[in-house]
Order: sequence, then structure tokens, then C-alpha cells
Amino acid sequence: MEYRKFGNLEQEVSALGFGMMRLPTENGAFAGAILEKETIEMVRYAIDRGLTYVDTAYPYHGGASEVVTGKALKDGYRDKVKLATKSPVWMIQKEEDFERYLDEQLKRLGDDHIDFYLLHALGTERWEDIVLRFDLIPKMENMKKKGKIGKIGFSFHDGFEAFTKIVDGYDGWEFCQIQLNYLDVAVQAGVAGLKYAADRGLGVIVMEPLLGGKLARLPQKFLGLLEKHPVKKSPVEWALDWLWDQPEVSLVLSGMNSMAQAVENMEYAGRSAAGMMTPEDKNLIAALQGAFESAKSIPCTQCAYCLPCPSGVHIPQCFDACNISTMFEDPALAKSDYARLAMLGGPAALASSCIGCRACESKCPQHIRISELLPKIHEALAV
Ligand code: SF4
Ligand code: SF4
Repeated sequence: MEYRKFGNLEQEVSALGFGMMRLPTENGAFAGAILEKETIEMVRYAIDRGLTYVDTAYPYHGGASEVVTGKALKDGYRDKVKLATKSPVWMIQKEEDFERYLDEQLKRLGDDHIDFYLLHALGTERWEDIVLRFDLIPKMENMKKKGKIGKIGFSFHDGFEAFTKIVDGYDGWEFCQIQLNYLDVAVQAGVAGLKYAADRGLGVIVMEPLLGGKLARLPQKFLGLLEKHPVKKSPVEWALDWLWDQPEVSLVLSGMNSMAQAVENMEYAGRSAAGMMTPEDKNLIAALQGAFESAKSIPCTQCAYCLPCPSGVHIPQCFDACNISTMFEDPALAKSDYARLAMLGGPAALASSCIGCRACESKCPQHIRISELLPKIHEALAV
């Protein structure tokens, strides 16, 4: 295992962290019961080979992930890792909820402290309407004083401007967690956000390194680019190496759901290093990025300038689901992303909520006819 600097903190962390969000389940069903024995074997296999960071969250696997994480870390494994989990910010409706949920998480984990505690999935709305409104930052500091939590951080899903606002909104952040992979260079916090946070001394944890597993299953037309390269690596290794190459990345989280994946990812992490990509390697990633870009059916850059939509439509995500269909030649994948959008953002997030007011269109730098496309997207992707 290779170890990396973690922002301004003294301690180093393993290049790879174990994400407990996509654990193996009965029949492989999204909402199925977690296969505990397999999960515990995988987590311990990784820790025995030097992995030092395990990440879960209140809602993962309907709450069962925290319980299984606690079990996996028994028998002496807890002392070998940093344990991270996240406060379910969106469920906080009154002052006392924050500590109540934290205590519930400690009980689920069977522990008396959490090493790295994050405010989960922040964006502008949650920052203003919940974190600031309910004074969650002083509450985090208070929990730190009580010894219930260690390092203070947040995970993030919004645009770059919202990211800088949150980073600058509190000078005590010790780390953050952002979505990043070679297709999401300018999506959400993006590479600019990575550098912004690292410049300010935060450790930066990367999630979704494989875009929810999609970059592990490249369409045949893109595999040819990999085959022409003199160095032979799997699509997964190229995606992970692109991240580890960047010195600002402290740790890459992978949501491993089979022992084979754990074995492979541990091997890749053991070969990783900042600055590891040659100019030819970078050209390969640029060629993949270009190929994906030209396979998009809608030229949406995910800039989010069109938001907010008065009807609540998550316009960039609707276009992203549509582009996934053509980029990965897989309508089923796009349909499942679109269905997940309704699960996360509610029915109003879907393209069907568009009332055709066209308030968004003048704000779109790509001049996309948003109101014309949305009904077609809903027709194609709704299940
Ligand atoms: S046209 Fe549709 S998507 Fe655009 S702002 Fe109006 S309701 Fe929202
Ligand atoms: S639709 Fe236009 S404004 Fe909205 S995210 Fe896409 S490119 Fe940006």
C-alpha cells in the first residue's frame, strides 16, 4: 500500500479507502440485504494489506452499512483504520437532532467515537437552510470537544461556486469529500475544487472515481484506444491512476462489492504515486475524454447556470442521464440514473415537471433548447 499526505494533518492515509455504499447484497439487488460474511472478509482483506480508511454513512444500505462496518472492524481491526461516517444533514429539523443522529450512528457502529465526521452531501441549500440555520458547525466542534468525533469535514454535491462558499464559510474544515473522475473534470467541485480545497490545507477525499462503476465497463468503441497504448492496464486502473497522479488527491474511495474488485484495487493502489502518469498516459485519458464528449447527444457541460428551475427540474442531471445513454450505449444504465434522480431529488427533479416557461434557456451558454428536449428525455428514460 502507498500512503499519502492528508492536507495539513500530520497523519498520512492509504491511497485507497473502502467505501461501504455498494456492498454485495442478496441476489445483487440494490435494496437487498448485505452479504455480511463476504463484506467482512473483503474489508479485513484490505486492512490486512495496509488500507487505513473506511467510509460509511447514515443512509447507506438503508442504515445497515453502519452496522456491518462496525462488525467488520471488530476483532482488533478498528485500531488499524480511521473510521468515517456522515451526518444525515437533510433529516435535521430541530437543534437536538444533530447529536441524536450522531448517538444513533455510534450505537449502530458499536463504537464511542468516529475519527472523521462529515456533514453529508452539502450544497448551497443545505448549507444555508440547515447547517447555518441549526448551527451545525458549533455543534460539530462541541462533539469534537466531547470526544465523540475527531476530524471535521463535509461531502459535497453542487457546483464550484457553492463549493468555494462552503470551504470559505468555516476556517476549521480539516477535509472534504468530492466527486471526481476523468469524465467529471468540470462537474460539481471538479478539478478546480480539488485544487481550491488542497490549496487551503484541506485533505481531499475523492468519491465516484469510476462514475458509479461506469468507467469500469467502457463501450467496445473506446476499448480500442486502450489497446493501442503501449502500457496495458484495465479501464479501472486507468481511471484510478488518473486520480492518484494528482498530488492534491489525499485518498480515493472505492465502493468495492466483490473480493475480486478488492484484490484488484489493492494491487492498483500499491503501484500508485503522485505524478505517475507519463505524457503518453495523459494523452490516452485526453483521447478518452474527447471520445466521450463527441458521443454526447446533448452538448450540456453541467455548468448549472440554468438553475434554479422554478418547477424544481434538475436540468443538468436530466441531460446527463440522456448523455449516459449515448456515451455508454446503454439505455438501461441511463434509465437507472434517471430513476435514481427521482429517488434523490423527488418527482419534481424529473424532466416531466417542466412547464415550458423557458426561464432557463436564456441562461444556458450552450443555447440548448431545454424546454423542447426535456419532455423527449422523460419519454425515453422514464420506466
Ligand atoms: S422551461 Fe422547464 S426546465 Fe426551464 S425553467 Fe421553465 S420549467 Fe424549468
Ligand atoms: S443546460 Fe446549459 S446551462 Fe444548464 S447545465 Fe447544461 S450547459 Fe449548463
